[in-house]
Amino acid sequence: MAKLTPEIYKNLDRNFLVVDLAQAEKNAAALKQLAGKSKLAAVVKADAYGHGLLPCARAFLAGGADYLAVATGSAALTLRKGGITAPILLFSEAEQLHYPELVAAGINISLYSAAAGRKLQAAAQLTGRQGLFHLAIDTGMSRIGFDSRLLLSALPQTLTSEQQDACPNFKLLQKQGFLLASLTPAEAENAAASWTTILEVLQAPELRCNGMFSHLAFADCVGEEAALRTERQRLLFSAFKEVLAAMGYKIPLCHLAQSAGALRYPACRFDMIRPGSLLYGLPPANCLTPTLSLVQPIASWYAKFARIFRLPPHTPVSYGGLWQSEREVLIGVLAVGYADGYRRNLSSKAYVILPQGEKAPIRGRICMDYCMVELPETYAVYLQRDLSELQPAELLGDGSRGEMTAWEMAAMADSFDLEVTCSITARVPRIYLRNGQQIQAGP
Ligand SMILES: *Cc1c(COP(=O)(O)O)cnc(C)c1O
Repeated sequence: MAKLTPEIYKNLDRNFLVVDLAQAEKNAAALKQLAGKSKLAAVVKADAYGHGLLPCARAFLAGGADYLAVATGSAALTLRKGGITAPILLFSEAEQLHYPELVAAGINISLYSAAAGRKLQAAAQLTGRQGLFHLAIDTGMSRIGFDSRLLLSALPQTLTSEQQDACPNFKLLQKQGFLLASLTPAEAENAAASWTTILEVLQAPELRCNGMFSHLAFADCVGEEAALRTERQRLLFSAFKEVLAAMGYKIPLCHLAQSAGALRYPACRFDMIRPGSLLYGLPPANCLTPTLSLVQPIASWYAKFARIFRLPPHTPVSYGGLWQSEREVLIGVLAVGYADGYRRNLSSKAYVILPQGEKAPIRGRICMDYCMVELPETYAVYLQRDLSELQPAELLGDGSRGEMTAWEMAAMADSFDLEVTCSITARVPRIYLRNGQQIQAGP
């Protein structure tokens, strides 16, 4: 992680997130290599997991990403307005008003309902552009997508034995008894309607199916049961792909694996991997060691000192006196609080790294805009100084200076590392560095 210099922090107030774009690019390059022959989709949803959408997207593309993926139509359009021409996948059906704009901008939407198929077709007619989509298939996440188990149990046509021979995974699922032997009338009706939609959208001349995807629900879990469930999802996905091919629909880009799946299950990489967390150097659950041998965190969070003062003995600090001094101590007030995303349940637990490298514990409740740390006596020299000149304290980083990492903070706050970075709020400026130099993020 690039070092913080006075040139960078002297004009900044309160707290800020420093994002190392050279590291972001390196992470993408490492994942591109991990992907091998598969393509790399860089997941930049949620403002690039809190790191900033456009600068991160550009760095990942520079590192070799082939595709970008986002969760909202407006994020997809922001990427296009930022001049990004790479293919983009929206991980959802579009919001009502966005269809024509997304079609005009050449964004791939996820598709898993008849209603979305109709709206995409209407938008294609309106704009005179093809409506692009990836079929979303549910293989066990129970979130979005056509229900692959149900649909494979109720094929719209009988496959000839020759066609069946081209579907070994489908036959395996049948043999394992994992497909439904009989369907209720409601299930049969639902399956038939879904197949009608799928065949319609695959055949519609105004539409183009660029891919098909599903999402693994157990890739970051340990144990035999999780491995079995992941394998079953892979089988369902493969079978669905084979059956469509046997019916004459060759899907160009099939993709299943997020970070943990790509890391732990090579057989799940298919035509493209879709990592998010690994690009930001954040380990999925149970993946700490393999993550850190592949990628590094790209963000460090710093807060400036708002005040340094002497606290008398037996004096409570902050709301409710969660902590109070035993003897006279030096207290630093940091300009960061839970409204910046510095979680309140880190109160009296977390620590920061001071300018000279010491650890300073948080004392008392974290407030909305401030929190307090106990300082070593050496910081008494700053009692009468202009604190804006003082190097900020580091709240979060890659751990190389002893600072907390996102996963350590998450463990302390009963959270998850991705939630830690996604929770850093919009009022916290993002500062971008490349090889130690600050660069302008651009529009
Ligand atoms: C968020 C998401 C990803 C990326 O997940 P990570 O665990 O961050 O790698 C991939 N695919 C889909 C569909 C997602 O929603």
